[in-house]
Amino acid sequence: MAKLGAMQDWTMRITSVIDHAAREAGTREIVTRWADGSVTRTDWAGVRRDALKMAQALQRLGIRPGERVASLAMNHSRHLVSWYGVAGMGGVLHTVNPRLFDDQLDYIVNHAEDRVLLYDAAFQPIVDKMKDRWTTIEHYICYDSGENAPAFEDWIGAEDGDFEWVTGDERDPCMICYTSGTTGNPKGVQYEHRSTVLHAIAGLQPAAFNFSGSSVMLPVVPMFHAASWGLPYAGAMAGIKFVFSAVNDPAVLHQLMIDEKVTDSAGVPTVWLAHFQYCDANGLDLPPLKAATIGGSAAPKFMIERLMKNGTRVQHAWGMTETSPIGTVGGPTWDWEELSFEEKVQKTTMQGRPIFGVELRTVDLDDMVTELPRDGKSSGALQIRGPWIIKRYFKSDKDAVNNEGWFDTGDVGILHPDGTLQLTDRTKDVIKSGGEWISSVELENAAGGHPAVAEAACVGMPHPKWDERPVLFVVKKADAQVSAEDIIEHLRSQVAKWWLPDAVEFIDEIPHTATGKISKKDLRDRFSDYRLEA
Ligand code: ADP
Repeated sequence: MAKLGAMQDWTMRITSVIDHAAREAGTREIVTRWADGSVTRTDWAGVRRDALKMAQALQRLGIRPGERVASLAMNHSRHLVSWYGVAGMGGVLHTVNPRLFDDQLDYIVNHAEDRVLLYDAAFQPIVDKMKDRWTTIEHYICYDSGENAPAFEDWIGAEDGDFEWVTGDERDPCMICYTSGTTGNPKGVQYEHRSTVLHAIAGLQPAAFNFSGSSVMLPVVPMFHAASWGLPYAGAMAGIKFVFSAVNDPAVLHQLMIDEKVTDSAGVPTVWLAHFQYCDANGLDLPPLKAATIGGSAAPKFMIERLMKNGTRVQHAWGMTETSPIGTVGGPTWDWEELSFEEKVQKTTMQGRPIFGVELRTVDLDDMVTELPRDGKSSGALQIRGPWIIKRYFKSDKDAVNNEGWFDTGDVGILHPDGTLQLTDRTKDVIKSGGEWISSVELENAAGGHPAVAEAACVGMPHPKWDERPVLFVVKKADAQVSAEDIIEHLRSQVAKWWLPDAVEFIDEIPHTATGKISKKDLRDRFSDYRLEA
């Protein structure tokens, strides 16, 4: 007797996602607002048609399955076509972040051995500057007009689209993203067809993006940032309407949200902050969104509160490039209806709960093996495993996980009894004072609540008696008057006394990474001679 069940073989490939969208939601619109202000409309059937042509055009260039095709582009329908076109001919799409520094751009394109680069005309200066260093690229295609390279529409327009998707193993790679590399060179994370399909199925469920056919999503999170959180795949599965903007100007985004009746949006906290500021400066209400996903950095409390007061469900998510990226998402928990508004806001400041497919645990920061209880108190190194979590970096010969398959995230957090994750720091930044841990992030958040503080960063500085003590670096708001004592006084009511920083230093600017996060490495380098006294 056969040992297996008797269900059909069905290989999990990205092509099944676009086939489904074109078949079941073929006329659902995909809107793009381009950098020049023009608006174009296609639909899921159109995206599939163009993806078939693009796959054909790539084959004509001699690109073979498994090889890398790069994009250097903002969010738009041609970029979306490329996601499916590259995967459809068995290639691997490398979404390059245009905000990386030159040396990083040089490194990742050569490391990935990209053969084709598709780019927005707006990034022509990057192409001109990097061209001599990008030795593996044989073909440049411009998504806009073809002044310096063939235009995308002409290039695929020369094909008839009579093409069969390339088939293969569901574990074949389909996309590669590089981490921004706060230390050392960026590292490549190669997603598989299978991991991508599973991640997308998990992403559209009510506990995550909560998509239905009536959802209208404007993703502000760039398509070059951790696969735009998997939205282009999850959205296709649910047959949602997408509204893309090739520019990140809050005025443009705001108008698009109103005009296209957008229900859902997603972006990092700074994007939401810019939108608030735009509305305030122009006396406008926030757009009537049903849901806002915020991730990439911690969503501040005031942001969550304001969106929730606007009737918007806030999905505060945590993840990283290495996790495809969804790890946890915040949404209504089982006790939601019993919570007061303030309690709901407070709960949403935490990073939400793991979606099905993700396993989390925290371990002791000293030995990195002893598992900690999920008691809402114990804070430890956060580890993760699951089918869309990295096993090995691209071209590395050793696994990035331990014997039991756990990947160490580099984050520090607390797990609550209901599964909620509360991030408290990064393992590199948490401060060890006299054998006890102090969260640099909590001190920064508390300092950020002072009305005169524009931005604060906290780092552990060497101390002769306690090993390390916190020092707070503060950028004042323009024209604000505040002293170090005022800041300490403000912190006193919010953190334990032994957490209070040993010093507060006012500086003009806090260094940031290419993805906009505080770069504590640069801050430490700049203050490498800094000394605290006993
Ligand atoms: P991404 O490219 O998605 O930002 P990165 O790999 O660059 O991913 O960075 C991931 C890191 O960002 C996480 O390890 C964590 O430190 C931080 N992060 C992501 N989401 C959150 C969040 N909701 N709250 C706090 N930190 C977050």
